[in-house]
Amino acid sequence: MKIICIGRNYLAHVKELDNALPTEPMFFMKPETALLAPGESFPYPDFSKEIHYETELVLRICKSGKAIDEKKASEYYDAITVGIDFTARDLQSQCKAKGHPWEIAKAFDYSAPIGEFKKISELRNPDDIAFGMKLNGEWVQQGHSRDMIFSFDKIIAHVSRFVTLKEGDIIFTGTPQGVGEVHVGDRLELFLENEFVFGFKVK
Ligand code: ZN
Repeated sequence: MKIICIGRNYLAHVKELDNALPTEPMFFMKPETALLAPGESFPYPDFSKEIHYETELVLRICKSGKAIDEKKASEYYDAITVGIDFTARDLQSQCKAKGHPWEIAKAFDYSAPIGEFKKISELRNPDDIAFGMKLNGEWVQQGHSRDMIFSFDKIIAHVSRFVTLKEGDIIFTGTPQGVGEVHVGDRLELFLENEFVFGFKVK
């Protein structure tokens, strides 16, 4: 399986990082080794001094497809959860300055903890999915899928022009505003439609 991540998909977050507004979805990938086993703590990596959380809705692909028509895109994903796109912001800034790829800042081990998937058809409000994250008991990020610049269907259509999607692949769909640092000892709790999905500690 592969992990695809969409960058710059919420206006307020694009602004908080001082990035240019995208005209089409931009994406990057993480390997399977970026997943964090349920119940495990996230080990703070020794190569960064500025690890940021990005709380995101995560889609799961349910059938393989290539160059998928946006109108049919909803047939290709059926489940959703929340996850963290951990980012070594210090390394990412260096990569951006040098024009280098982002892998060292984005694709490192355990950089993609995710919760258990839920069927989208069983959500209360699938057209505007609420999600968020509490850091040490305080809300730090709360988002709504309605605020995405590019919809799930647009993302699927765009990514599948370049990369064949396969059953079991997952797509991080971008973070709303409020990204920030984590530190050793922090506890993160993730929510979908105000229900707790999963939590873990930073060690
Ligand atoms: Zn992200």
